[in-house]
Amino acid sequence: MAMPLARKVVEELAKQYGVCIRPIPFRRIDSHTGQADIVDVPCGATLEAKCPPCAKRNQQLRKAQCREGWHLAEEPANTPKPADDHQRYLVGLRADAQVWREQADQAGDSTDDLAAAIDDLDEEINSAGMRGNVLGRTTGKRSRSTRRRQDAPDLPKRKMAKTTLGRTFTGSDGKTFRPSMFVTLTLPSYGRVNNGIPTDPDRYDYAGAARDALHFSKLVDRFVQNLRRVAGFDVQYFAAVEPQKRLAPHLHMAIRGTLPRAELRQIIAATYHQVWWPPTDVIRFDGDRLPVWAEDCGYLDPDTGEMLPTWYEALNQLDQDDEAGPLHVIRFGQQHDIQSVLAGTSDADTCIRYLSKYLTKSISDDIDPDDPAQRAHVERFTEALRFEPCSPTCPNWLRYGVQPKGAKPGMAPGRCKSKAHKPEHLGYAGRRVLVSRKWSNKTLTEHKQDRRTWVLEALGLPDKPADPHRYVWRQVPNGDANVPPIAVRLLRSVHERQRWRNHMNQLQAQADGQDLSATEGRAA
Ligand SMILES: [Zn+2]
Ligand SMILES: [Zn+2]
Repeated sequence: MAMPLARKVVEELAKQYGVCIRPIPFRRIDSHTGQADIVDVPCGATLEAKCPPCAKRNQQLRKAQCREGWHLAEEPANTPKPADDHQRYLVGLRADAQVWREQADQAGDSTDDLAAAIDDLDEEINSAGMRGNVLGRTTGKRSRSTRRRQDAPDLPKRKMAKTTLGRTFTGSDGKTFRPSMFVTLTLPSYGRVNNGIPTDPDRYDYAGAARDALHFSKLVDRFVQNLRRVAGFDVQYFAAVEPQKRLAPHLHMAIRGTLPRAELRQIIAATYHQVWWPPTDVIRFDGDRLPVWAEDCGYLDPDTGEMLPTWYEALNQLDQDDEAGPLHVIRFGQQHDIQSVLAGTSDADTCIRYLSKYLTKSISDDIDPDDPAQRAHVERFTEALRFEPCSPTCPNWLRYGVQPKGAKPGMAPGRCKSKAHKPEHLGYAGRRVLVSRKWSNKTLTEHKQDRRTWVLEALGLPDKPADPHRYVWRQVPNGDANVPPIAVRLLRSVHERQRWRNHMNQLQAQADGQDLSATEGRAA
């Protein structure tokens, strides 16, 4: 029994080599030749469930990306690449959908299906590697009445300079400094906590904590807007959203350039976000009495048969109601931390390590399942999120008498599938790393591509950009007989990696040999 398990050793070797231990098999069909083969895609290529080697690799890439942009001394080049055929095709489709919707609208037909199709297309346009929206910068899909618009907080405003770089300072010895900032922002208190656990759970504001977590990313957006307005330049950032012990999300942000601390404090205090969603203070449908679905109409009141207002109708009602207030207003808490950091110092390194520290963890990873107090805290938090609408499409809207955006049959309050409601996300389902567009010259994909190119070059293999639409990828169903068992696939990956490693070592030895003979030549 003291002997190591062979199967475990393979996994350990794989981990040591940075090989994915939970690869996902895909069937790759070559559209030129019709040939199909099974290719393992590292689990890290998908958003969910990263194995330790993939998580570690992603973390390293993030660190490189963070380091590259923080103290940038020259404006990053941001010339977008020309669109490819697939991207053009998608935008073409989107144009058709736009016109069809307008035509349906003019004819007095329902535009719900087309609106949903347009939403899907917009998403696909983004996932096909295009930024932004085909309509350009819009302030939201509906034009709100002036009263509903977010007020700009009372803050000083500088004239905008066309730069993304911070100021430099020159010391008396002529040396140039390029200071940047590292800022930590938290949410307000919801009640007293001891080591992350509410001391009086009954009085802890779980509802407030749940709503703040759900809308946290919008507050961060507002903060950046205000920051840029006050700083007077196009401030860039690299930020990580992390859980605090009390389970509230908080934010660490590396900011390029610097601002006086007093101004930064003023911005933090003045920043807020108003959530203009329909009210949820009256529970209209609950228990067995739930809205019923009718084909061609949507959800109806089960007693009167009256159609519930659609999402857009509910928003219009809200606009017309002068008494209505926002559903929620979110602000930062009193606790924050501001540090000034110089390029290339050990402080900068510490901050970068800090920023990538939590990237491999989920919001609830630090929760000890054996600690009943922590478990109870998570349960109460999850319960507070259960009926809270997480987005316009959340089925929970039915509880408050509104049809969710894009309503479809089978929806029921309390049964939203969105990550936001799950105990491992606790309201925050957004991205964990937020990187502004002009942070560095490279996106994460380009950083990945860099490493790939480097390895391929070192191996003397061609890295010509393959036609991106040459291959069709299909996920392989579980238990497909063509997929070798995981152990066999891992052995192959380990073999492959060993081959690479040996080859790299040889190249390195050759390079060292050349260096040595060059030095010797000079000495002679
Ligand atoms: Zn993996
Ligand atoms: Zn939801």
